[in-house]
Amino acid sequence: MMEVTFLGTGGIMPTAERNVPAIALRYGGETLLFDAGEGTIRQMNAAGLSPMKVSRIFITHFHGDHYLGLAALVQTMNLWNRTKPLHIYGPKYSYEFVKNLLSSGFFKPGFEIHVHELGEERIMFKGYEVQSFKVEHGVPALGYVFRENDRRGRFLDEKLEEYGIPKGPILGELERRGWVEWKGRKVRLEDVTGPKRRGIRLVYTGDTVPCERTRLFSEGADVLIHDATYINAEDRGSSYHSTIGEACEIGRKAGVRRIVLFHRSFRYSYDEYRDAAERLCDVPFTVPRDLDVIRLR
Ligand SMILES: [Zn+2]
Ligand SMILES: [Zn+2]
Repeated sequence: MMEVTFLGTGGIMPTAERNVPAIALRYGGETLLFDAGEGTIRQMNAAGLSPMKVSRIFITHFHGDHYLGLAALVQTMNLWNRTKPLHIYGPKYSYEFVKNLLSSGFFKPGFEIHVHELGEERIMFKGYEVQSFKVEHGVPALGYVFRENDRRGRFLDEKLEEYGIPKGPILGELERRGWVEWKGRKVRLEDVTGPKRRGIRLVYTGDTVPCERTRLFSEGADVLIHDATYINAEDRGSSYHSTIGEACEIGRKAGVRRIVLFHRSFRYSYDEYRDAAERLCDVPFTVPRDLDVIRLR
């Protein structure tokens, strides 16, 4: 089970209803944050998420709307006597920017903070991996793929019967060890289970113009959270953002199950933007409001 909470869905400027970007992903007792715009700690409080459970923060790029909440978040963790180390990941220059931000004011954290500067790489964790990929935003910027490990297939009744294995503690042993000796025969886990089940894949682009790498890294994803700041290309000016139509075209080409239209400009009302998405998007889409939750599996 995975739960994605949109802590802030706006772009560039916070409004009365919406905060700047931050996405919380709860998985296996851990909370991962993707971006942490100003006010993320308050949004977490509103969503009922504890900052103490945050183990890793992935920053897409160093524009204020995506990282200025880090300082308040870290200071709050400290006030609550955090001792667990915190890992912060981001593109080139992360080390310098994060260090400068966190060393402002009369503050010294009582826990370790590790900053990891990433290029395009895969980082393996328990039960999942995160892959970073480069996007195009005029400054060093990364998108992230969250990939849950594939899970074993389901136990097949007919196979269990064939080997004469009863349902009970023996299945637990089979699961743990990968094989058991049963009635003089060695039975392996794969002998009595179906095909592996693919883990959940979620992609977050951060800010970007439409780019081929996003399509490549989103291939077959369950959810693609894509920059869709604008309805019309004319509104974009010289900024490096995407329109609803561009985001959806990438989602369609990549064959994603659902696209989340993110970083919506403050200039559009919810209804106006949603109507445009109905018109422009030919894959299942979501226009999230702040604190909306998506549950996967
Ligand atoms: Zn932004
Ligand atoms: Zn930006």
